[in-house]
Order: sequence, then C-alpha cells, then structure tokens
Amino acid sequence: MKIQFLGAANEVTGSKHLITTDRGVRILLDCGMYQGKGMETDAANRDLGFDPRQIDYVVLSHAHIDHSGLIPYIYKEGFRGEVICTPATRDLCAIMLQDTAFIQAQDVRWYNKKMDRLHQPKVQPLYDNNHVERSLQHFITVPYNRRFRLTDDVFLTFTNSGHMLGSAICSLDIWEGEHPRGEQAKGEWKRIAYTGDIGRLHSHILCSPQLFPQCDYLICESTYGDRLHEDTLVSEEELLGVVESTCVYKKGKLIIPSFSVGRTQEIVYVLNQLYNDGRLPKIPVYVDSPLSVNATHIFRMYLSELNADVQDVLRFDDDPFGFNTLRYITDINQSKALNNNPDPCIIISASGMLEAGRVKHHVANHISDPRCTILLVGYCTPTSLGARIQDPSLKWISIFGYDRKIKAQVSKIEGFSGHGDYREMIDYLTRSLNTEAVRRTFIVHGEQSAQEAYKDHLYEAGFRGIEIPKKGEEVRV
Ligand SMILES: [Zn+2]
Repeated sequence: MKIQFLGAANEVTGSKHLITTDRGVRILLDCGMYQGKGMETDAANRDLGFDPRQIDYVVLSHAHIDHSGLIPYIYKEGFRGEVICTPATRDLCAIMLQDTAFIQAQDVRWYNKKMDRLHQPKVQPLYDNNHVERSLQHFITVPYNRRFRLTDDVFLTFTNSGHMLGSAICSLDIWEGEHPRGEQAKGEWKRIAYTGDIGRLHSHILCSPQLFPQCDYLICESTYGDRLHEDTLVSEEELLGVVESTCVYKKGKLIIPSFSVGRTQEIVYVLNQLYNDGRLPKIPVYVDSPLSVNATHIFRMYLSELNADVQDVLRFDDDPFGFNTLRYITDINQSKALNNNPDPCIIISASGMLEAGRVKHHVANHISDPRCTILLVGYCTPTSLGARIQDPSLKWISIFGYDRKIKAQVSKIEGFSGHGDYREMIDYLTRSLNTEAVRRTFIVHGEQSAQEAYKDHLYEAGFRGIEIPKKGEEVRV
C-alpha cells in the first residue's frame, strides 16, 4: 500500500494523509483545513492534492477544524464516500463545521468588498452551510474499542486518545495480497496506527489516553515534540492567582481567549471546582461565544465519557459546567455590553489564538487598560495575534487596523494544553507498543524544530525507521 502525506507535514495544520491499498481502497486519514488569517490559506485549502471523487472513506480522528474542516469542501468537490468517526466527534463536527462556514462567509464578504474597490475578481467561500448539512449525512459513527469492517480487507478500531471529547487513535488493519476470503489466500495483515492528536496523561476533565493495539506502522503527531508542560495542579492555582490579582486587587477584567470546544469547558470546569470549594472570588464569569455554548451542551450529553474526577463531582453537582455566577452569552448585543461594563469580571471567549471572534474585540477594548489581564491558555501559531502579544518587548500592537498601546498584563498558563508534551507522548507510545515491532514511524503535525527533537526522543525510546515526511511525499509500506 501507499501512504501520501498531504498536509500537517512539517506544520501543525491541515492534517490529511492518504492511504491507497494494493486492492485500490482509498482512505483519507483526517481532512483538515489550513487555518490562518482571513483569506491567507484559501489557495492551500483548495489545492487538495487528490481527487475527492475517488476517496472511499475519510477516517476522522477528532473534530478539531485542522483535522475535519475540509470535509464539506471535498463533499462539494464530489466526495460521496463515508466519514467514519466516534459519536461525539460527529456531534461536535455538526456545530464546528457550521461555525467554520459562517466565519468563511464573513471573511469572503470582507475580502470581496476590498476586491470590488480594486476592480479585482471576487472569490467564493470554500463551502457554505448547505454543504455542511449534506456532508454530515455521510458520517457513520463507531464507538471506541469496536472493530469495524470497512471492506473485506480493511478494518478500523478507535481508541480514546484523551485529546478532546471523541478523539481517537485510528488503528487500520489492512490485508495485502489475494482476496482475504479466498481459500488459503496469500498475503498478510498490516496495521497502521494514526495518532491524530495525543492528549495529556492527566487532564481536568478528559480520560487519560487509553493504550492502543500494536501496529506495524505508526503515524504520530509531534506538536509538543520539543517541550515539557507544567504540572496540571499548578495551572489551577495559577488561574486562581491571576483571577485574584486582576479582578480583586486591580479591579480589572480578566480576558481568556480560549478555543470554544474543549479548552473552554476545561477552564469552566476548573472555575466550577473553585466555586464549589468556596475559593472563587464573587465576580461574574461570562462565556461569550455561541460555539462554546453549543459545545458545552454536547459535553453535557457525553458526561459519562469524561474522567473519574468528573464522575465524582457529578455525585453532588449535576452540572460541572455551570455555577451561580457564570453566564453563557450568545447574543451579540450582550457581548458588546460587556465592553461598557466597568466592573471586574472574567470573560472567556473564542478564538484561542486571537485570530478572530468576539475575543478580539474584548482584547482590542482592554489591551490599553493596565488593570486588565489577557491570559493565553493554549497553543498559538507563531504568526498569530495570540503569539505576537506575548512578546515582552512589544509596546504597540495593531488590532483591527488601529495601533494600540499594550498596558494590560499579558500572561500565559501552559498546563491547559490538550496536547501531551514529548515525555507524555513517549510514555504513552512505549506503554502501548513494542517499539521493536514497529517497522516505520512517520512524524507529522509539528513545527520542524519540534519534529527533529521528537525524532531524537523516539530514537532514544527504541523506535527505529523514523521519518519526517515532506508535504506531498508518498511512501510504500
Ligand atoms: Zn486537535
């Protein structure tokens, strides 16, 4: 069979890997979108590198847009196969893909206005809501740890990877040789494990990554291939410290840019714990993002998939994502009203990298107020606004075309990351696998420096045949 690496090769976005079996079955591992500012990534997203009409299956590791975001686009371009994922991934995709279509419509409207002024041709969005709705009808859900038959010669098993609700390691058993049902058919089964994204050993709400079956070939992520995280418990205390210093002592607002799905629920859960323990100062907390509100509904539907700590809390608190001083906001006017309210509060809003969304307005309105804090809680790509404002030497920043003086505190807590660091990933891989029996390992989904460092860590852990494929590279296994 062949594996072609079509995205997330030497980068952390646009995950797409195409498997073509010798018997001609085409399986796309994830169908992620390149994410960036406005129309910057439009061309990269349109250049798929394969014909969507020829794809039989998309095996989807989890719902994050950098893994799922182009499914409606390939549907628009003729894909009529099946998308296989866990039930929670399907439900999350339903809201996240709609949100992505909405953001695209906004970006395109703004871009086309500019093109109109310059008398340049206009562009169309990659897809609209209609394509999202129709592509969702091609989803088939498979629970964790159930061996699912795609064809006579391809089987799939999902194992919980602990990265987000519904996330999975995808193990594909592929028969290579004569038809497997033939009498004494000649050939062999080969197993490919694709990690998608790997979660942390200990998360506030998610289960630890579960051990996955031995594989012959491993396709592994490497986001934090060169870094170690702080302790999880410290994050909780750190968060309380930032709340107290900002909202109690300085009487300012604490703005937390956060991904709507996963990170926001984790932050809310920690605040809920602090509230239950009587330690959270009595200030209003707002979750200001329609997507976050919808995602929280889905988390409430899958409470039994969350970890043992959450199950303990559920015995006396039937809503770990809600407490008296917390309000969820969907209405845009209520969101705008937060800007005029001078009282201390916590605002949790998307997007996490500060590239778009309501949080960008909150940051623009408060970045020059020395009483306020902007607290980053997740990974930011180096060129994003979220990464740029962390530069301590920076005095001014342009947001929405206006230069603003940075007077607010800009802080960061790393412990909330949804990605395991290299020690956690290596520990997880070596507990799951006999490294000597893994014939080849392909490192994907990481910045180049992280990938190179991760390669050394994998080698030290006993892996051999480790490769860092380039974008478009095809290998035979
Ligand atoms: Zn992810």
